[in-house]
Amino acid sequence: MILKVGLTGGIGSGKSTVAGIFKVLGIPVFDADAAAKEIMAKDEELQQAIMRTFGDEVYAGGQLNRKLLAGIVFNDAFKLEQLNALVHPATIKAAEQWMQQQKTPYAVKEAALFFEAGTATDLDYVIGVFAPKPLRIHRVMKRDNVTREEVLARMSRQIDEDIKMRLCDFVVENNEQELLIPQVLQVHEALISKAGN
Ligand code: ATP
Repeated sequence: MILKVGLTGGIGSGKSTVAGIFKVLGIPVFDADAAAKEIMAKDEELQQAIMRTFGDEVYAGGQLNRKLLAGIVFNDAFKLEQLNALVHPATIKAAEQWMQQQKTPYAVKEAALFFEAGTATDLDYVIGVFAPKPLRIHRVMKRDNVTREEVLARMSRQIDEDIKMRLCDFVVENNEQELLIPQVLQVHEALISKAGN
């Protein structure tokens, strides 16, 4: 059976960068955020449920108005929880189906929130990508062309990185001092060996 491996880390830690290295190694990666966006755009049953909860205008013209929805849930923890309760099960199901189709010894599911969402229990191992907070803030400001305050607001929804990394089975340090590729190779070899046992 295929090993299911989570890849997580805070905003700007370098999850997508590390995922890119796994892909080069021939390991398939499921991007949970991208899948959630696709499901919200295409799954009609989910669209109906989202409209019932947040109003028809969220899908005005048949297209999801992401900005409007983001504005509704951003400062309202209850509404965010409601949205997650609708979207997470569909995304988990899509990831599960995708995992079963992969032919490699292990496959990776990339998501910012496993422990926060309570979905880490579906995984055999979790890899954490760690980078110091000031570096993460700087990276996201540059990548997304946003202010420091906007990055801090996004970060405030995630659990503390030190706690998150302690919950992970492997930690990759992406502080731009330690080399990334050798660390990922080491994790890859460990996972191949675990899959063979
Ligand atoms: P998010 O959770 O916001 O999607 P992420 O954890 O996937 O972020 P990345 O998008 O991989 O993070 O990295 C954030 C930014 O930092 C990107 O622009 C990326 O190119 C850059 N970056 C990541 N790691 C490094 C590195 N080791 N050296 C230089 N730049 C890096």
